[in-house]
Amino acid sequence: MKHTLFSFIAILLFSTTLWAQADEKKLNSTLPVRGLAIAAPSVQGVDQFLKFIEEEMAPAHFNLLILRVDWNYAYESHPELRDPNPLTKTEVKRIVDLCKKHDIRIAPQINLLGHQSWAETTYSLLRLYPEFDETPHVKTENYSGWPNPDGLYCKSYCPLHPEVHKIVFALVDELMEVFDADLFHAGMDEVFYIGDDKCPRCSGRDKAELYAGEVTKIQNHLSTKNARLMIWGDRLIDGKTTGIGEWEASMNNTFRAIDLIPKEVFICDWHYERADQTAVYFAMKGFDVATCPWRKPEIAIEQLNDMLRFRTNSTAAMADRFQGIIATVWSGADSFLKNYYNQEETQATESDAATIKRLMNEYKKMHASGL
Ligand SMILES: [Zn+2]
Repeated sequence: MKHTLFSFIAILLFSTTLWAQADEKKLNSTLPVRGLAIAAPSVQGVDQFLKFIEEEMAPAHFNLLILRVDWNYAYESHPELRDPNPLTKTEVKRIVDLCKKHDIRIAPQINLLGHQSWAETTYSLLRLYPEFDETPHVKTENYSGWPNPDGLYCKSYCPLHPEVHKIVFALVDELMEVFDADLFHAGMDEVFYIGDDKCPRCSGRDKAELYAGEVTKIQNHLSTKNARLMIWGDRLIDGKTTGIGEWEASMNNTFRAIDLIPKEVFICDWHYERADQTAVYFAMKGFDVATCPWRKPEIAIEQLNDMLRFRTNSTAAMADRFQGIIATVWSGADSFLKNYYNQEETQATESDAATIKRLMNEYKKMHASGL
């Protein structure tokens, strides 16, 4: 009798697992990418971050985590570039193991090309290697808010400096190895300084070719390791013709790079204020694309519905390029988690925590209804 009962329970558990796997498979074909892009936690914040993955992300069927690591890792190839008290292999391994357990892919991120400074602060790469600065004549210490006389938003490295890739690719390789990743996110958004008139290497060159050259170089490097590059999509959209403007699209002609970069690049198409239909543009150009919302839950739901509609109403060649939704968080991971566990924030009409809660509910509903 006991034996029969055990067999019954074993069969029941086995069947439940199979059903769950079948549902997950169904959800993956309905919406392949259900992602979150967020800064990597501090060393002290790792436990809380793991709890969030285990108790919130995994049960809500998230399957991609883009982690902005930047200088928050104890790089061995270039220890001089580490932030103080960075994540070590030990913490990263805990994150990697937990994500593997729940089939969550990780794409580590370092901002390449642009975003090398913020307001008065110059980040590690240009601080330690000022010779890579595309605009050394623009001083971050003179930053006086945006817009300012120098047009400074954030600095870029010079993509044609002969030494820069040796260093940044060493960092990329370390992260890909420690995160056991086959996706790498290089940021590359909001690059306002490119092909500067005063740069001895870039002045007078075509900005679209410079941008495309850098994207191609990074993808080619990743291809040698069977990995794929993800970038934000804004530099590839024509800001003037579309009226989308200088932030979430390009007003300095980099948009023509869309026809010059490798098709395996994965586009993260961020739009926070409206459900712009630009995913269609990327898919028609042959790229895999995910739409990326931020603080407006209502917009995020429109974007999710658009994505599902695009997948249904496209040719077989196009449909699978509409890969899904990647929610974004632009505060630090530790402060986001504080918000996430605060009911007022998750019920606000505008907050990243509220957007993520709404998407979680949608994914759970889709999973439960076998969509
Ligand atoms: Zn240059």
